[in-house]
Amino acid sequence: MAQGMSTPEADPQAAAAALDSVADPLTGKGLIAAGRAAPPRISEGKASLILDVTGLSGEARAQLERAIRAAMIGVPGVQDVRIAMTAEKKARRLIAVGSGKGGVGKSTVAANLAVALTRLGAKVGLVDADIHGPSQPRLLATEGQRPEARDKKLLPVESPYGVPMLSMGHLVKPGQAIAWRGPMAGNALGQLIDADWGEAELLVVDLPPGTGDVHLSMVQKHKPAGAVIVSTPQDLALIDAARAVDLFRQSTVPIIGLVENMAGYQCPHCGEVSDPFGAGGAEAAASALGVPFLGRIPLEIAIRRDSDAGKPPAAEGGAYAQPFLDLAGQVMLWLKQPPA
Ligand code: ADP
Repeated sequence: MAQGMSTPEADPQAAAAALDSVADPLTGKGLIAAGRAAPPRISEGKASLILDVTGLSGEARAQLERAIRAAMIGVPGVQDVRIAMTAEKKARRLIAVGSGKGGVGKSTVAANLAVALTRLGAKVGLVDADIHGPSQPRLLATEGQRPEARDKKLLPVESPYGVPMLSMGHLVKPGQAIAWRGPMAGNALGQLIDADWGEAELLVVDLPPGTGDVHLSMVQKHKPAGAVIVSTPQDLALIDAARAVDLFRQSTVPIIGLVENMAGYQCPHCGEVSDPFGAGGAEAAASALGVPFLGRIPLEIAIRRDSDAGKPPAAEGGAYAQPFLDLAGQVMLWLKQPPA
């Protein structure tokens, strides 16, 4: 184009008005009024803007981009539109649920903690990191579901209890042995944790029992905000729990506290409470280890029966929701004021 013949620069106010004529998909306000974008910069026929796409799905982003281009290109003097998208990275916190050994009810506590935190208003996802023996799909009634992937990320499966979740059990056939070791186990965990968790602000992570590869990967790479340790009241289980506490301590993961599961069995016939695994052991152990005691969950046939049927006791209307809601309350409190 010959000198002096170039089109006059677009009017910045007209460009801003055009941008603000596009509605924010979430609030319905104009994009500038909604705080998604500042007025565009105009230079040599190019309108450039930074668009905050926090909270929008991939499809909503693409639609919005098309709408902005259409609006801006209609402004006299605008020949090109450059859009840079940014999204606020959600500060998502991980709560690891661990135990020194298997069979103490760690998975049961993790599932019900996630459900109870959701009932208390938190946005929670659940990661079943027990990659060798995943049980969360059964506990939260998502057996047989397959997560999809988008942009190379897994999309969590929706459970009926408002808790999105991912488990190796969703990726392999039931009963299929998973014999991953070392780096493969770490990568598998990474895929579950770095999935597209959307709005979730907390991820409850059900760790495998003991202190193996997955734990190391968990504490080194994913840095949980805190750990909940589950134990039964037995001496032997408590020795293992002490080992789990030690592992998290060494890796500087704060311990939220110790939960005693399978405490006090009430006879359904005579009502008498007995203590098949001893009484008060976990509270004493917590105090000896210098970690908070988070309470007791009773040994109850209904807890086992409902859990096996995919009906977490912590869900609405569930029998024995209270101890799990109490536990969730303590975890929420801790998250608000983690010890310095
Ligand atoms: P872990 O994850 O520690 O291996 P699970 O959560 O799989 O343990 O629990 C082991 C078994 O104990 C399951 O059958 C579960 O339903 C049962 N169970 C867990 N907690 C309780 C409880 N408080 N009362 C009764 N049964 C329980």
